[in-house]
Amino acid sequence: MRLVLLGPPGAGKGTQARMLEKRLGAPQVASGDLLRTAVRSRTALGVEAKRYMDKGALVPDELVLKLVEERLSQPDAASGFILDGFPRTVAQAETLSAMLKTGAPRQLDKVIAIMVPDEEIVKRISGRRTCKNCGAMYHLIYDPPRNHNLCNSCNGELYQRDDDAEDTVRMRLEVYAATMRPLLEYYERAGLLKQIDGIGRPEEIQQRIVEALGPAGAAAKGKPA
Ligand code: AMP
Repeated sequence: MRLVLLGPPGAGKGTQARMLEKRLGAPQVASGDLLRTAVRSRTALGVEAKRYMDKGALVPDELVLKLVEERLSQPDAASGFILDGFPRTVAQAETLSAMLKTGAPRQLDKVIAIMVPDEEIVKRISGRRTCKNCGAMYHLIYDPPRNHNLCNSCNGELYQRDDDAEDTVRMRLEVYAATMRPLLEYYERAGLLKQIDGIGRPEEIQQRIVEALGPAGAAAKGKPA
């Protein structure tokens, strides 16, 4: 299945994508993760991207597209993927559609938008912590680690992403508000969009996504979430 998850930062796209990976047998492709890896590796692309990410602004399309295209051409994404954080603009959506048509023609099966109000987002993101070692995510209030500041699975140190500071989150939400409506309209017109309520426990939201996926989601229901 070729799936896109849309939603503001902190909507739970990453959590849901990781749950769906197991259920659908397709890899999560998160543009933010691809960019953060490039930043950590200090590639030329990473150094350039960091300037935008630190401000909470969108990274220029040519940089993001290069990383996403490379990732989608890997064998594990040949029969399906779960895109998380990409596309962010109509221009990216159009390029994605063109990208999928090259070689064996493919198209998206569904676009799920996880809707969460701004106040809830700021609350969620300010408590978010990530493991430096394995990338597992926690929340200081909703999903705290067993040991203070250490990952439950690998004991790695937890950190707060630079762009999760409150001012940067507000900037990211402004960028989201400006770019998302045209993107939602684009996928609505294409007949691919389903909007779901993003408030609730991760398992409840997963259930809403599975229902929104229709028969393909239901067929995968028996698989572990
Ligand atoms: P995320 O992890 O999806 O919240 O993304 C973190 C940051 O990476 C964003 O605030 C942007 O600066 C950048 N970014 C991630 N995905 C994209 C994208 N599709 N287009 C442009 N910038 C992106």
